[in-house]
Amino acid sequence: MSVVKERHWVERAACKDMGHALFFPELGEDVRPAKEVCEGCPVRSECYTYSLEISTHHGIWGGKSERERRGNRPAWKAEPEPIRHGTEAGYGAHKRRSIKVCLGCRNAHREYEGRQKHNRLQRGGN
Ligand code: SF4
Ligand SMILES: [Zn+2]
Repeated sequence: MSVVKERHWVERAACKDMGHALFFPELGEDVRPAKEVCEGCPVRSECYTYSLEISTHHGIWGGKSERERRGNRPAWKAEPEPIRHGTEAGYGAHKRRSIKVCLGCRNAHREYEGRQKHNRLQRGGN
């Protein structure tokens, strides 16, 4: 069951009757007052999980600021784009994400390198 659809926990939130502003501080504003409220909130973990599910960039959720939550996105949210397999760009994406290079991308890369070498030779370089 997804907490996104089940938001009954909001009824028990410590911040239920508080203004939103406290939990959505402007850049450079103090986040401690909001965190203090979250500290005593009975639905902290639901709130936190919810923020990861909706992948929100903004605000204090479950006592954690945006910066603190950033590293905890589910992996499928962290992947910005699918790898275009069988291309040189795909090869680069494999490398950047430390994913084993697939056959298609390896071939594309070999071809790319071959072309580069060919070009260098044509220019008389080495
Ligand atoms: S953890 Fe904080 S932001 Fe989340 S519901 Fe509780 S008081 Fe509100
Ligand atoms: Zn690939």
